[in-house]
Amino acid sequence: MELWIQPCAPCAELYGQPSTVEPHDNLTLNAAGAVKDAQAEQHFTCIRCGAAFARIVAGPVPRQVWLLLNAGQH
Ligand SMILES: [Zn+2]
Repeated sequence: MELWIQPCAPCAELYGQPSTVEPHDNLTLNAAGAVKDAQAEQHFTCIRCGAAFARIVAGPVPRQVWLLLNAGQH
C-alpha cells in the first residue's frame, strides 16, 4: 500500500470539505466491513491517485468533514 501520495486535483479540492459534499467520480466506497464504525464514517479510495479518504458522518458538525488519510507532507 502506498502511504504517501500526491493527491489529484479533485482529491486536493475535496480534502477538508464538509461531509455533505458528494464524493467525486474517481472515488470508490470501500467495503463497510473494513471500517471500524461504518455508522460514523465511510472510507473511500481514489482510483486515479490512490488517496484514501474518511468521510465523517457522525459526531459534532464541525468534525464532519472529508479527511485525507495518506497525503504527502510538504
Ligand atoms: Zn485522487
